[in-house]
Amino acid sequence: MKAMVEAGMDVARLNLSHGSVDDSIERLKQLRKISATLGREVGVMADLPGPKVRIGKVEPALEIQVDDHIDLVPGHEPSKKGTFTVDYERLLIDVRVGDRLSIGDGSMILEVVESTPNALKSKVLYGGIVQGRPGLHIPSDRLQLTTPTPHDLKLLDAMVENDIDMVALSFVRSAHDVRRVGLEPAPRGPLVVAKIETKAAIENLDAIISESGAIMVARGDLGTECSLHQLPHLQKDIIARCVALGRPAITATQMLESMIKAPAPTRAEASDVANAVFDGTSAVMLSGETAIGHDPAHVIATMAQIAEEADRKFNYDGWARNLKRSGMLEPQSEDAAVTDTMTLATWEAARSINASAIVCITRSGFTVRAIARFRPDTPILAFSPEDRTLRQLTMSWGANPMKIDRIDDNRTTVEEVLALAKAQGHIRSGDTVAVLAGMDGKSAATDSLRLVRCP
Ligand code: PEP
Repeated sequence: MKAMVEAGMDVARLNLSHGSVDDSIERLKQLRKISATLGREVGVMADLPGPKVRIGKVEPALEIQVDDHIDLVPGHEPSKKGTFTVDYERLLIDVRVGDRLSIGDGSMILEVVESTPNALKSKVLYGGIVQGRPGLHIPSDRLQLTTPTPHDLKLLDAMVENDIDMVALSFVRSAHDVRRVGLEPAPRGPLVVAKIETKAAIENLDAIISESGAIMVARGDLGTECSLHQLPHLQKDIIARCVALGRPAITATQMLESMIKAPAPTRAEASDVANAVFDGTSAVMLSGETAIGHDPAHVIATMAQIAEEADRKFNYDGWARNLKRSGMLEPQSEDAAVTDTMTLATWEAARSINASAIVCITRSGFTVRAIARFRPDTPILAFSPEDRTLRQLTMSWGANPMKIDRIDDNRTTVEEVLALAKAQGHIRSGDTVAVLAGMDGKSAATDSLRLVRCP
């Protein structure tokens, strides 16, 4: 994990679908120590399994071939050749003859050919190697399970007790699912990341984004729920709505999949990572590549290199102009209108005076997320007294999180943060910076922009 942080990992996802919650807590503690040793903020996100249906453990790995017959039976016991257990009690009721079921994000496909009182009989259409506890995709509109599940809520309690920074919620279908998590708003509670991977979530997208702290384009399950030719467009649309509403978007799954084994990505994978950056994603995520891959630190270094090059080639001016002109900023509340106006003014001011930095003084990180969507080509220095906010900002595009002791009145705090930014080499005497903050320490909203010359 230390090598992974050194290679450029900003956020670690602990996927609670695998291993015990104690293992995840142990990893969280190790990450905190590594972060302190290296002096680098690392956010930690717990990913709740949600109502994901999985096959009972396959150990050792099994090769399934086209035309093989496999019985699917409800249960939790290990699977064996010819019979896979499925951890969904209503399997025999909700799945029908003719349904195509995919295993492991579409790598193998079965067709249900007969339904008996004890099992669904299926035929393999596309075979492959099955290992561990891969997911079995059942269309989400058939599933009688809601998210978060009672098991999710237990896992959530354990992770919140251990000060987790972000929590990802699987198979969200409505804003109500996000509200059911019932956490205090960030930074008192973790940032809630809604995973967009169902058709219903696409239909309720704006309401889900507004209710969430961030969004994940969970392309594995989304690509199974929708047609694959729609996926690139869904990715662009979801990211565009996140930009409009000022929420970080994570693009996830199979980004550098071939590097689970190979020393270099395919050309298509390298382009996929860069194109996600051009779409406006705030973060790019690895899954199998780092969980079971041959060389996790090398995959991260490769991804970081591709993303950094895409950042260098990014059309910054065109992006912000388009955001301003396109009517994407259509605030849904008066507070949002204030934020949109203030952050747009900051982008324009920083540009026209050639500012050396945009300095944000923030308690919750909201201001930073709102300015980051304009993709200013000026560094964003994010000062907060809240440790969790600083760790949550590791997911935001371009933010450099830095700790301050407290937020006082605007004048005192600005003097302090400029001195700190200077001491850390981000700005020099004589530089002009744009400072975005609340007017007094208690302001909930970003209501002041100052252009300040650094003493
Ligand atoms: C996905 O489906 O793309 C995803 C990120 O979820 P998980 O890895 O939990 O299946």
